[in-house]
Amino acid sequence: MAKIYHDEDADLGVLKGKTIAIIGYGSQGHAQAQNLQDSGLDVVAADVPGSRAWKRAEADGVRVATAAEAAKEADMIQILLPDEIHPIVYRKDIEPYLEEGNALGFSHGFNIHFSQIIPPENVDVYMVAPKGPGDLVRRTYVEGIGTPCLVAIQQDFSGIAFEKAMAYARGIGGTRAGVLETTFEEETETDLFGEQVDLCGGVTELIKASFETLLMAGYQPEIAYFETCHELKLIVDLIHEGGLLRMWENVSNTAEYGGLTRGDRIINEQSREAMAEILDDIRTGKFAREWILEGQAGLPVKRALEREESEHPIEIVGKELRAMMPWLKKE
Ligand code: NDP
Ligand code: MG
Repeated sequence: MAKIYHDEDADLGVLKGKTIAIIGYGSQGHAQAQNLQDSGLDVVAADVPGSRAWKRAEADGVRVATAAEAAKEADMIQILLPDEIHPIVYRKDIEPYLEEGNALGFSHGFNIHFSQIIPPENVDVYMVAPKGPGDLVRRTYVEGIGTPCLVAIQQDFSGIAFEKAMAYARGIGGTRAGVLETTFEEETETDLFGEQVDLCGGVTELIKASFETLLMAGYQPEIAYFETCHELKLIVDLIHEGGLLRMWENVSNTAEYGGLTRGDRIINEQSREAMAEILDDIRTGKFAREWILEGQAGLPVKRALEREESEHPIEIVGKELRAMMPWLKKE
């Protein structure tokens, strides 16, 4: 089992007297900046001058500057921009101002692992990646619980890169919940694998394929929607709270028996081979190259597929049915 680090393994003092720049005041940026500041650390945030995010930082009482100004001033620079923007802003506004012994931080390893950013040798390179969206990172900090984080060190110039990263993790509340150590390689590859195979790619195809199967057999789309899509949340919530067994215990005996005996006909040998191929594309950099070029081309494939997805019958019927269930809307 992996070692889990807590508050007593992290010394905030390592960052006292240092300035931390948060580049990008979005989902992660606003949460990490406010948490660090409330932990007594000196924070300067950066975003596009005059943008909504910039105004939000001001309203939150976080000092805000341009990326170049923040990078120039800071000892520790956490890049929390959308991943595809990192290399552009890094080259223009961060790299020119890096000083020996500075620390460069990330919350996702893509750009370092796939060499889109190659920092100089005389800085520390670390990752502190909260396992949840920014609003959760902020809310759990305020509640005193914290959100679990991953920590990784890519480059240890100062000899205390790990201590700095752990102090940062403590500053955002991560060590209250627990921090696990990983590497840029492991975080990046498993993150991409999870979102392609299981969380985003796998689950949407499973929903669409089972929905289409029922429609083609002549069942009503509304009934198919409830069975193949709507109820998924109840199942996932049970698994999330108490593991697979909690879910099996809470569904009917018929559902349990049917699921346990049939599931591996859906996710079968062929599916597992496809998973291995997808992992291979990730590890060889083939997926990364495709995604980087897609970004440089202005996202034509992404936009075309989004359009196609929006026209799928499950989206049409889903919209009508969700309107009947106003309690589904977020407050
Ligand atoms: P967001 O898209 O929420 O926020 C990025 C912010 O950067 C936005 O305010 C954006 O402004 C701003 N921005 C865009 N371009 C520039 C620029 N040129 N100069 C200055 N600011 C700019 O990103 P996330 O918080 O989702 O992601 C940040 C990092 O955290 C990523 O590496 C991601 O992988 C990682 N991460 C994200 C998680 C999540 O749940 N969201 C979870 C764990 C890690 P605008 O909106 O105007 O474009
Ligand atoms: Mg992820």
